Amino acid sequence: MLGPPGSGKGTQAKFIAKKFGLPQISTGDLLRAAVKSGSELGQLAQEYIDAGNLVPDQLVLKLLKIRISKRDCNTGFILDGYPRNLQQAKDLEKIANVTLVILIELNQSTLVRRITGRRTCKKCGAIFHVDFNPPNIQGICDICSGELYQRTDDKEETVIKRLETYKRQTEPLIEYYRDLGLLEPISGDGTIEEIQGELDHIISSRIEKG
Ligand code: AMP
Repeated sequence: MLGPPGSGKGTQAKFIAKKFGLPQISTGDLLRAAVKSGSELGQLAQEYIDAGNLVPDQLVLKLLKIRISKRDCNTGFILDGYPRNLQQAKDLEKIANVTLVILIELNQSTLVRRITGRRTCKKCGAIFHVDFNPPNIQGICDICSGELYQRTDDKEETVIKRLETYKRQTEPLIEYYRDLGLLEPISGDGTIEEIQGELDHIISSRIEKG
């Protein structure tokens, strides 16, 4: 899943994962878990995340390799937030076969509004939005009753930096995957359900075609 922060990648990746029975791997989640664990790698990653920069490729690759070596990844997986630059795209080709790249596109002002209103569950990682997808009870996760919080890097100052990082480093991947014939762009400017419907259609017809 390719797209700027706030485009709905995470929410939609979770939907596809459930619908098609594939694990969703978010390198952002892997990194946040490493930060929480207090490991050396996590400590190193934290300063990059807090500054809205990309964590060094080798660190992310290390976490990714560990995750995809687990048995649930044997028949495939959905990557959410990886690759984020050309080097990572090349690294990925050495360890997996990329079959489809979904790009979710959205304009900058909507992205900022989406990210700053985002609330994430501390326990299960579910994603809500104070206006567009509010939980039933404010501050509490609908799925696991965990506490919802605002990621420190979802505050406005860091969001602008993250969007710049996306433009500079990640956007070149659009051409890269288009040239490889793998890109399926969709508009992120719809309701969660509308976009789910579109993704369902794209992926189901790919599966039918084999
Ligand atoms: P995300 O949860 O995808 O928005 O990622 C949050 C932050 O984690 C990013 O702003 C980066 O600092 C870091 N991060 C996540 N995925 C990657 C990646 N593939 N490469 C480098 N840094 C990443």
